[in-house]
Amino acid sequence: MNKPELLAPAGSFEKLVAAERFGADAVYLAGEGFGLRVRASNFDFAQMEEAFQYLHKREKKGYVTVNAFLKTGELEGVREYIGELKSIRPDALIVSDPGVFRIAREVAPEIPVHISTQANVTNLSAVEFWHSLGAERVILAREVAGDELKHICANTKCEIEVFVHGAMCISMSGRCLISNYMTGRDANAGDCAQSCRWNYSLVEETRDGQYFPVEEDERGTYFYNSKDLCLIEHVGELADMGVKSLKIEGRMKSVMYVSAVTGVYRQAIDEAVKGGYEVKDDWMRHLTSVSHREYTEAFYNGRADETSMKYGTSSYVRGCDFLALVEGEHEEGVLIDAKAKFAPEEKVMLLTPDMNETEITVGGLLAMNGIAEINTKPGMKYILKGLKAPAGSLLRRYV
Ligand code: SF4
Repeated sequence: MNKPELLAPAGSFEKLVAAERFGADAVYLAGEGFGLRVRASNFDFAQMEEAFQYLHKREKKGYVTVNAFLKTGELEGVREYIGELKSIRPDALIVSDPGVFRIAREVAPEIPVHISTQANVTNLSAVEFWHSLGAERVILAREVAGDELKHICANTKCEIEVFVHGAMCISMSGRCLISNYMTGRDANAGDCAQSCRWNYSLVEETRDGQYFPVEEDERGTYFYNSKDLCLIEHVGELADMGVKSLKIEGRMKSVMYVSAVTGVYRQAIDEAVKGGYEVKDDWMRHLTSVSHREYTEAFYNGRADETSMKYGTSSYVRGCDFLALVEGEHEEGVLIDAKAKFAPEEKVMLLTPDMNETEITVGGLLAMNGIAEINTKPGMKYILKGLKAPAGSLLRRYV
């Protein structure tokens, strides 16, 4: 049976390591230019080299996003950039602009090209078009329904990748100008201000500061605000259809998000290939433990409707606070990187990269100079005495 690849976001080296530890087969990441997430901690060239050494040593893959839509004046820059990337041997370039595709084939024909979801491929003919030009894989638009996806997979030799989890746009897969219009920040150059999720009011131009409600109902006006995609129920079907790669959105999300979501989909894919796929209770608990906006299956079952939108608020919700990341062993316990305040004697949850979750009581806490501390401060490193846990484990508190 087809076993889809699990593809996770790597917005930084720390998140790349988290994704790998929690079971990703591959990650996608951006360099400092042309990658559609200008506010992520993108990789400079040396970090990119280190990232690919880390991945390839563990027989994992990395795909580099070069998926911005470019102006003519930027083409020489992208040619140079792709030329430089050759030496770090990315497993593919993710591209949307046909101009960039052409340059990638000329400059680095040995690097496979995946067609980005930004290219809005929604049908079999468009898949075949890109495949005939040499694209190894097409990442379909999120707007493709499950039955259309099945038809596409059954009728092409091109690899098909789909998003299974993460944020959605209300426009066609991010080809959107709301952010440009409201803020000058270009969504198609990776700088979206998420203006679709703002709470809008009406202001008369001579009455500064007087905000009149624009209310669809008593909850307000968030008419552009999509819920987040979650296709955990359908991983078995996607494997059956022959989908090559299941992608998690979120290069801007936290280490906790990348770890827990990757860990859940790792288990889901492993279950799917055994046959008789069933969603486990724990999975939804973990998927709702991380920052999200309520989940929808959106277009998978046909057209998205009002149940795919979140009308009450644009805020995120999450079921857990992220307290600390276990960085490695120490002779007295483990070395941790604190993300929030907690103290000895507290009961907290330990989530290991194999998705085993247990309650523990926090033992003694030492600063790196060996002095006992009464609580943690976010951003500081400590030795947590008496704990044995693998690197990458998370300490969390359910809220
Ligand atoms: S403003 Fe909203 S719909 Fe538009 S690109 Fe940004 S996230 Fe997507």
